[in-house]
Amino acid sequence: MTLKLPVYLDNAASTRCDPRVVEAMLPYFSEHYGNAGSRNHSFGWAAEEAIDHAREQCATLLGAQAKEILFTSGATESNNLAIRGAANMYARGPAGSTGRGHIITCSIEHKAVLDPCKRLAKEGFDVTFLQPPPSGVITRAAVEAALRPDTMLVSIMWANNEIGTINEVPEIGALCHEKEIIFHTDGTQWVGKMPVDVERDGIDLLSWSGHKIYGPKGVGGLFVRRRKPRVRLESLVDGGGQERGMRSGTQNVTGIVGFGKACEIARAEMEADGIRLLRLRKKLEREMQQRLEVVQVNGHAERRIPGTTNISFGFVEGESLMMGIKDIACSSGSACTSASLEPSYVLKGLGVGDDLAHSSLRLSLGRWTTEEEIDYAITAITSAVEHLRRLSPLFDLHKEGIDISKIQWQAH
Ligand code: PMP
Repeated sequence: MTLKLPVYLDNAASTRCDPRVVEAMLPYFSEHYGNAGSRNHSFGWAAEEAIDHAREQCATLLGAQAKEILFTSGATESNNLAIRGAANMYARGPAGSTGRGHIITCSIEHKAVLDPCKRLAKEGFDVTFLQPPPSGVITRAAVEAALRPDTMLVSIMWANNEIGTINEVPEIGALCHEKEIIFHTDGTQWVGKMPVDVERDGIDLLSWSGHKIYGPKGVGGLFVRRRKPRVRLESLVDGGGQERGMRSGTQNVTGIVGFGKACEIARAEMEADGIRLLRLRKKLEREMQQRLEVVQVNGHAERRIPGTTNISFGFVEGESLMMGIKDIACSSGSACTSASLEPSYVLKGLGVGDDLAHSSLRLSLGRWTTEEEIDYAITAITSAVEHLRRLSPLFDLHKEGIDISKIQWQAH
């Protein structure tokens, strides 16, 4: 097969919709176009049946019951509904008062968790943002040490979206169940790639998203436990009472059908996909480290999901590196905020210095990534880094054995 450029290595940002998913969705655009809430005719029944089927497909992937699955617009909404919905439902005091309850999360969560937590902090909740160790892994012990008598909710992601590290989710789930605290996990980068069993893993609330698992964008799910304990949420969107009153609004039937199909395919194929992606990701990391010096793979070496890696390249400038690998679609370790380039807060949170954070790449592989594409990426990144280093006086100093961090630069 000939290599098609650009090579897509940004599957943690979004994935190509699987053609089998598209095929399942098509009849629901212009054939079965009813509103699932229309109870009086066959168009409505067809839509409702399709949603019921998708709910089963989603539940099966998680080891949950269909009744425990809510459909949302994606993981951002699921996270907001889980965190704000649970906090407000179980708050100890009225809105505006202080001491309404204690929440534990982590400083390197996705913004879709951090921002709702920050909002709750303004609304009278106490929030602890755990600082990760350099490995990026949040342990049961770290959560346990932060517990307080008034802790009501713990939200710790399963796998990190920037570095792919895996937190101790089943262990944290067990801890929360022992202490009767609600446990939410943002499973966006985990579900559909690695096995889940909400019973075994002690999860009360779990968010995930269609477009990260070869499904459509704008649709996601939230698992809400109904037994031991029965978790209740205050809704964010009120109206027609769809999704058990927790998420009103006419359901996105086509999206939900695609999401269900994506979950079904993921369940069947995740093991084989995972083995293949792990081998390719390890090859990429190994080759980068063998061909180049001053290369650092960020986060824990072993506790990582198969397809995501985050690599820093010393002595290159991040923007120039991105320009040098234009035929590789990937993410950089910098986020453009207005006019400035901020180093990633996740990498900073691990203690990665600004320079290395700026010159890092997140490369995320997916179902259609081929060995040929990985070989191309290895060659392209190596030559871009070598080229930039040839132009770098700092790299020359480094090669002469001078420790750059000890140089006293003089300002004139
Ligand atoms: N959480 C994590 C860990 C993610 O990676 C993402 C997507 N970048 C989200 C939440 C948001 O998901 P969505 O795009 O479905 O709103």
